[in-house]
Amino acid sequence: MALKHAAENFSKSLKEEVQRWGSMKQTGVSLKYMMEFGSRPKDKKLLISAQFLHKELPIRIARRVIELENLPFGLSQKPAVLKVRDWYVDSFRDLRSFAEIKDRDGELAFTKKINMIKVRHNNVVPALALGVQQLKKDLDPTFVPEDLNEIHQFLDRFYLSRIGIRMLIGQHVALHDPDSEPGCIGQINTKLSPMQVARIASEDARSICYREYGDAPEVNIYGDPNFTFPYVPSHLHLMLFELVKNSLRAVQERFMDSDKAVPPIRIIVADGIEDVTIKISDEGGGIPRSGLPKIFTYLYSTAKNPLDENQELSEAVIMAGYGYGLPISRLYAQYFGGDLQVISMEGYGTDAYLHLSRLGDSQEPLS
Ligand code: ATP
Ligand code: MG
Repeated sequence: MALKHAAENFSKSLKEEVQRWGSMKQTGVSLKYMMEFGSRPKDKKLLISAQFLHKELPIRIARRVIELENLPFGLSQKPAVLKVRDWYVDSFRDLRSFAEIKDRDGELAFTKKINMIKVRHNNVVPALALGVQQLKKDLDPTFVPEDLNEIHQFLDRFYLSRIGIRMLIGQHVALHDPDSEPGCIGQINTKLSPMQVARIASEDARSICYREYGDAPEVNIYGDPNFTFPYVPSHLHLMLFELVKNSLRAVQERFMDSDKAVPPIRIIVADGIEDVTIKISDEGGGIPRSGLPKIFTYLYSTAKNPLDENQELSEAVIMAGYGYGLPISRLYAQYFGGDLQVISMEGYGTDAYLHLSRLGDSQEPLS
């Protein structure tokens, strides 16, 4: 039944159209451009933006469909991957069947449509994670993780592209918001305080830690409380939340059964000219050097896998378990020209350096 549906969903002519669009050139956008373009969004600008997306989104989506169809080790045939493929095909079809956008009514209808597309793709990350999990189960246990490099690189490209698509749609939709906060241009806050985001993200992570362990180490934040820079608050929150969660878990696990004082996690915010760098330091015992190359892969976690017993896709936030926190956070940083590095001292603790590009003029990395 599922197979039949997939076949119907993906006719020969549609396949050809996907091929054609997938070979067109993608157009990158920078944070700076989004800010300049989005200030004072008049109808005319929204129309131009919609027309751009009407052409750009099918190109980006078609490329992902082609990749999803051509994965190694039979990953393309895994039910969870087929489901994701179908979401992309449906969205491609929705966009291609949408008439040329000529006026305000067309623009508004298009905005509704792309917002719906964004919602359709909400669960892509856990769905693909499940597909990779299914593959991992089938593979010969003697299979070395290096052989999965190709899959890892695919996932990096795929999730980075997803971040871009969601940023573009989210930005277009947000520009319609009549009561956006002062200083905000769509999803970008031109006066974002990294210390404030760090505070909120830490509290959010601590409350998860509380729920899991009944206790949570302290988090101390250092830096200039008045410093602000333009960035997307939801992206920064996501990265800091993931990094603090990792540190809390490490510290908590290490000191849970000890009567020593629990060392706080320290977050240091440095405002450089080129970068804003945020360091998250913990004394959670660190990561063995042999484990370091694995921490940025999608298949590595030292936590119990939440997908193992329960095959339902759950949206509940958990302390750790997918092994996605670090690689996804790094992609968010790289999306706007930043980076994430982790340096560790086994037997002591870990430092994560989150570099965020301040200039905002780096183009989206596209592949
Ligand atoms: P989740 O997807 O829920 O974040 P996870 O925390 O296991 O799961 P990552 O955040 O990518 O996945 O981290 C991968 C692994 O790296 C962790 O399982 C842990 O073993 C190790 N790690 C990450 N940060 C730290 C840290 N601060 N201290 C010690 N080990 C760490
Ligand atoms: Mg994590």
